[in-house]
Amino acid sequence: MTNPMSYPYEAPQSQSLFDRASVVTPGGVNSPVRAFRAVGGTPRFMVSGTGPYLTDADGREYVDLVCSWGPMILGHAHPAVIDAVQQAVTRGTSFGTPGQGEVELGEEIVARVAPVEQVRLVSSGTEATMSAIRLARGFTGRAKIVKFAGCYHGHVDALLAAAGSGVATFGLPDTPGVTGAQAGDTIVLPYNDLEAVRQAFAAHAGEIACVITEASPGNMGVVPPLPGFNKGLAELCRANGALFISDEVMTGFRVSKAGWYGLEAANEGWAPDLLTFGKVMGGGFPAAAFGGRADVMGYLAPAGPVYQAGTLSGNPIATAAGLAQLRNCTDEVYATVDRVSAEISGLVGDALTKEGVVHRLQTAGNMFSVFFTDQQVTNYDEAKTQQAYRFNGFFHSMLSQGVYLPPSAYESWFVSASHDERAIERIAAALPAAARAAA
Ligand code: PLP
Repeated sequence: MTNPMSYPYEAPQSQSLFDRASVVTPGGVNSPVRAFRAVGGTPRFMVSGTGPYLTDADGREYVDLVCSWGPMILGHAHPAVIDAVQQAVTRGTSFGTPGQGEVELGEEIVARVAPVEQVRLVSSGTEATMSAIRLARGFTGRAKIVKFAGCYHGHVDALLAAAGSGVATFGLPDTPGVTGAQAGDTIVLPYNDLEAVRQAFAAHAGEIACVITEASPGNMGVVPPLPGFNKGLAELCRANGALFISDEVMTGFRVSKAGWYGLEAANEGWAPDLLTFGKVMGGGFPAAAFGGRADVMGYLAPAGPVYQAGTLSGNPIATAAGLAQLRNCTDEVYATVDRVSAEISGLVGDALTKEGVVHRLQTAGNMFSVFFTDQQVTNYDEAKTQQAYRFNGFFHSMLSQGVYLPPSAYESWFVSASHDERAIERIAAALPAAARAAA
């Protein structure tokens, strides 16, 4: 069967824009993961999105399995979000004062995620993790932090050690520009290894301010925590006077109403001290947050001594978009996203199996990714042993058939509640050829 979405591979308008972009912008992109560096070729420049579809500058439509790297859980141009933004923008775009939208978005987050007693709004996930780390250091009076190899927490200097996402995609061990002093207090440990954390606390008694982890990592591909890992981290932090920071920038409000906390911790009776959020909570606009225990958050200026600020923090357009999106993320929406995710990942697995391609689908709630290996992947070293080259043919075959995947074998795939039967059929039609290209 020929896929009706099959396109000629050349994309002259995207190519022309990319050529111009490459003159004025390093690598032609404003965030490295958007480049096709790992898979080769020219990134597609998108001009519009509706529901599960994106349209590029050459007028070609793609089923979108990136969803802006997570935020678009309701699909593109959801009427409620567009309406809220249109109404907000007519009232003005930024006031530099407190506003009602910030209060309501804060209340929505506090209502959804029980351990968040107080929350501070920022504009990106990077700001959220950076500020949470500073707060943890200020609160504990300690300098060292623990992070896990393959976890990505944004481009915070101290957290760009053995980071995932683009740093993993491009095979960078660390990043020039981060000095030894900036990363010198960062202890990098293997993910899912509680014993390593125990040893770090023993070796640095009284020195570790916090442990930060992705609630369920999606930036080295999807590598969920082994049973008891997060709980063990929370217990070790408590026992050693350190704070436990759960980074839910990717998972927050995506995998459940209360994020990964809602799936795991709430059922196991433990809680992080601080959590970080972004992506879904902004409805496609720059809104992010960190929050948690009121006694810790009370250390933030102006209530306390730890300084943190932002000209556009709590921006009225961003908060309106985020509120509209969160208010429409109902139980029914999460049930749909879960079902769509299971259906699509099942189709991917079936197609690869049929072609005899060694692979492993890993899932965390409604996030999933494919590793080209037959082994379970539990940490970054294991993730790197996959046959990532197989992904390139797979990716380009899907692209040429009108399905847009993350251009890296080390990223989560994202679906939305708008991925309907038509979109799923298009993916199903593209998969056989893509699986052959991966073989
Ligand atoms: N934390 C996690 C888990 C992320 O996935 C990301 C971005 O992908 C960030 C933090 C950084 O967020 P932002 O890109 O909004 O700065």
